[in-house]
Amino acid sequence: MEAHQLTRERVRHVVSEDQSGFYRLGYVLNGRFHTTYVGRSDTCLQRRLLVHVRESWQEAFVARPAENKAEAYRMECLFYHLEQPDLGNKIHPGKPDGVSAECPYCLQEAAIANSSTTTTTITNAD
Ligand SMILES: [Zn+2]
Repeated sequence: MEAHQLTRERVRHVVSEDQSGFYRLGYVLNGRFHTTYVGRSDTCLQRRLLVHVRESWQEAFVARPAENKAEAYRMECLFYHLEQPDLGNKIHPGKPDGVSAECPYCLQEAAIANSSTTTTTITNAD
């Protein structure tokens, strides 16, 4: 996913209207994008990003359209879990209306936490 300046012109240019999708806000340092906020829109990704432009609290964004709001939600959850220590998001993404699937990454963490057979084996192959 390519990073763009968070301006009205860039958002209008790279994000289609009336499409659900997922985005990250952040900044670019030494050519690398650092995420400070993750989000999604179930209806219009472009409109959602334009709201962030008006708030002008982040300088760059990456955006990815989704097939549907379930996919947008899954992407948002993935990056929420991956980047959580660095994020301004304080609460887990909410499930969109009409989507019944739970966050797969929460389910995975719960499964790991509840597993009594988890062992760590360190093999020194040398
Ligand atoms: Zn989760």
